Amino acid sequence: MASYNFLSQVHLIVITILIIITLLTPITTNTSPQPWNILSRNNFAGKLTTASSSVESAATDFGHVTKIFPSAVLNPSSVEDITDLIKLSYDSQSSFPLAARGHGHSHRGQASAKDGVVVNMRSMVNRDRGIKVSRTGLYVDVDAAWLWIEVLNKTLELGLTPVSWTDYLYLTVGGTLSNGGISGQTFRYGPQITNVLEMDVITGKGETATCSKDMNSDLFFAVLGGLGQFGIITRARIKLEVAPKRAKWLRFLYIDFSEFTRDQERLISKTDGVDFLEGSVMVDHGPPDNWRSTYYPPSDHLRIASMVNRHRVIYCLEVVKYYDETSQYTVNEEMEELSESLNYVRGFMYEKDVTYMDFLNRVRTGELNLKSKGQWDVPHPWLNLFVPKSQISKFDDGVFKGIILRNNITTGPVLVYPMNRNKWNDRMSAAIPEEDVFYAVGFLRSAGFDNWEAYEQENMEILKFCEDGNMGVIQYLPYHSSQEGWVRHFGPRWDIFVERKYKYDPKMILSPGQNIFQ
Ligand code: FAD
Repeated sequence: MASYNFLSQVHLIVITILIIITLLTPITTNTSPQPWNILSRNNFAGKLTTASSSVESAATDFGHVTKIFPSAVLNPSSVEDITDLIKLSYDSQSSFPLAARGHGHSHRGQASAKDGVVVNMRSMVNRDRGIKVSRTGLYVDVDAAWLWIEVLNKTLELGLTPVSWTDYLYLTVGGTLSNGGISGQTFRYGPQITNVLEMDVITGKGETATCSKDMNSDLFFAVLGGLGQFGIITRARIKLEVAPKRAKWLRFLYIDFSEFTRDQERLISKTDGVDFLEGSVMVDHGPPDNWRSTYYPPSDHLRIASMVNRHRVIYCLEVVKYYDETSQYTVNEEMEELSESLNYVRGFMYEKDVTYMDFLNRVRTGELNLKSKGQWDVPHPWLNLFVPKSQISKFDDGVFKGIILRNNITTGPVLVYPMNRNKWNDRMSAAIPEEDVFYAVGFLRSAGFDNWEAYEQENMEILKFCEDGNMGVIQYLPYHSSQEGWVRHFGPRWDIFVERKYKYDPKMILSPGQNIFQ
């Protein structure tokens, strides 16, 4: 009896403590509330949808390794639609996340908005307006939802062209300016983000601003390479030049990595040399051609494959010289001189002569080919890195000749090419290594739905190799699973990134799929 009384007294005390704790604990609000209640009172003239087909397609991206569902998708037809949506979230007590989605060609859910709203930027495209070329000003004003291929088609009508590109042109202007936009022209003209003169941006407070290096400059530099964290770009003014007509497109094969990089570095140090320079790695699995480029004459495939077999890892230098009527007579001589100066394996030089458009749009053929075989919408566990020049040889030994050969699973293009740091701008948000020259390295794999995790493992192994070796490697198109990863990613620039976030998106509404602040 005594023990029963003691037990019930203990029970009473425990229950009383629990009640007190419950009363003292503040009611926690859901940090990612269902925005639908607020949104359904503002129907955006039918532009907001929860249709499962829209939500389903906004949940995934080109990477096909994440599925992150929004509550709704906004199909805006005007800047005001987006401004209203952001304001609605910003002014609400329980604000909801939202993300601009360009062409959804991210590979890791970067354009997603879990339980929030995905803004389908492509619905803004109006064929009658949205791209205005200024012949006298040598620039194009373009709505950020347009694809680069559409910009190119339009500017070429007037014989003009942007100068800095991505390898693949079916990406939106807003999407690549949020990252950087790099390709073989970057060493010479800088990434796409350094070729922007002006932008219109809607901040995370729903305020619209025109910005440039002289006007609202902090916002301008924050947004460029800003991973969608500070505002939604609605218009960008891009520099133009007179378009060349054709491209001499050469490839050279190397078996010695140091010869390969020495030639690459020498070529990018010249201001009047080639117009485009990239490079790639071939390992002893897979054919020499891939979706990114069908280039080699089929009659040479065996010869190249046997060279790869013999050496296990070989390298390809790729250069282009543009030309037109005025330079057509000198371009051959120039390229001959150039090839003589290179230390490639003699007998392994390839040449093509194509139109400027065909060169810039070279990846499209591979895309259409894969699409026709149902091999485009598959998982893409990509990894893109910036490797300082001083570490590239160690990277070759440890990764190309180490991890990649050992695991024997990497398929698809592996890119490696250098760029000059002085063509970037430190005020921009994009993170790059400290050295004057650094390499872009891209593992652009296609995988199966049942085996992509093995590639992800390999990515982790490569990242660990770089981290353990303290190599100063930085991810491009970055993904970090924790905030510590982001702090390391931005290094000394993390504080300014955070400061800008509080300034332009204090409620942390924008682009939550980047996984930086949420
Ligand atoms: P999305 O994936 O839709 O969005 C990317 C990020 O930007 C998201 O965080 C999104 O919220 C944000 N965002 C989108 N639009 C806006 C906007 N208007 N304002 C503010 N934020 C916005 N990159 C290179 O640099 N060079 C290459 O050569 C290259 N080749 C590629 C080839 C292929 C086949 C693919 C799939 C990708 C390639 N990329 C390359 C990567 C590509 O640049 C990025 O993934 C880019 O973000 C894709 O653009 P998108 O329009 O699909 O953007």
